[in-house]
Amino acid sequence: MPVTATQTPAFLSARIMELACKVLGGTDLSREEAREVAAVDPMSDEFFDLLFWANKIRIARHGRSVHFCSIVTGKVGGCSEDCSYCSQSSAHKTHVKPAVMSVAEMEKAGHEALASGASSFGIVNSGWGPTDKELDWMEPFFKKTAEEGKVRPCATLGHLSPEHAKRLRGMGVERVNHNLEASERHFPSICSTHTYADRVNTIRNAKAAGLSICSGGIFGMGENWEDRIDMALALRDLDVDVVPINFLFSIDGTRIHGTVTQLEPREALQIIAVYRFLLPTKELKIAGGREKVLRDMQSWIFFAGGSSFLIGNYLTTFGRTPKQDHQMLKDLGVSFHLYNEMEVRADPDAVPGAGPGAEGVAGAEATYMQRKSGGRVVALEVAQPALSGGGGCCGK
Ligand code: SF4
Repeated sequence: MPVTATQTPAFLSARIMELACKVLGGTDLSREEAREVAAVDPMSDEFFDLLFWANKIRIARHGRSVHFCSIVTGKVGGCSEDCSYCSQSSAHKTHVKPAVMSVAEMEKAGHEALASGASSFGIVNSGWGPTDKELDWMEPFFKKTAEEGKVRPCATLGHLSPEHAKRLRGMGVERVNHNLEASERHFPSICSTHTYADRVNTIRNAKAAGLSICSGGIFGMGENWEDRIDMALALRDLDVDVVPINFLFSIDGTRIHGTVTQLEPREALQIIAVYRFLLPTKELKIAGGREKVLRDMQSWIFFAGGSSFLIGNYLTTFGRTPKQDHQMLKDLGVSFHLYNEMEVRADPDAVPGAGPGAEGVAGAEATYMQRKSGGRVVALEVAQPALSGGGGCCGK
């Protein structure tokens, strides 16, 4: 079949530039236009046009520097919900055993996050949502962190009533993470114990309480591009502040394991780029699955439009060491912002700790190793050694 003018590489390159200029000019792309950027073949030369312009949009809206945040589990495992990808659901038989962290351990993890340069530090709990008693338990940590003012206190606690959202804001929490996870159409196929509407309600309750919103999803769960566009447009309508992009690296024992094909690195980068075109002003945070799915291409996340990433470990799997990520930023010539917005040049030698198991190590392995050596709380029987990469987020 003859190639039409609109299918030629030159036309496609010009069209990508035209759409990028529209975004740079401050106009949102329509659903039809979103479909055009999503249709670029990730194995074509024009794919690099897409990345080039996504990077231009990132720099125009967010500058050259990036942010990163760190999370730690407060309450792990034993969850009543049945999210198909999650190793913490009690419906799944995985390596995770239920456990709860003490306030002292949260503080220790927070100091490690600070030492790695994270601007935000989040406590992530499994379960439907917090009880009053759980909020009582976390309150001293959040209050102290807010008073110290060195890192943004964040919470991923599941579903929030208007009252609980207000209470969190009152104890100093600045930002709540609650992902949509998937499109409204796809959501029922990944979870049956709560609905997409439940998730939207929590986001609305948190917003109404004056909390900043971090909400995104997990990609590679069998969704199609129409689902991805739907979710981006829903996040745009909800006007969230930060959009985490997680790539599924499925965990043995979860319902989804073995039922979906892992994303290829170029498709993962295309997801970031399309989200940058659709959500130009939002912080795009590349989170779970970065190491496993992107492999050697993970340093391309910024070129694809990512403006932020999760440093250190994920919830039930290891990430890279902060040293490795600082080295990546240094090699790229990318600096980062602290909580007070001070811009800092990445320097792996300035990050405490020499790697897994080292004395006084800060960041990635520290949380796990020190908790293990503390002998009190540890439940994370990690199936693979350090650098195993993350298999999606807690999902909330
Ligand atoms: S993603 Fe969150 S709500 Fe769903 S099973 Fe895991 S811990 Fe529970």
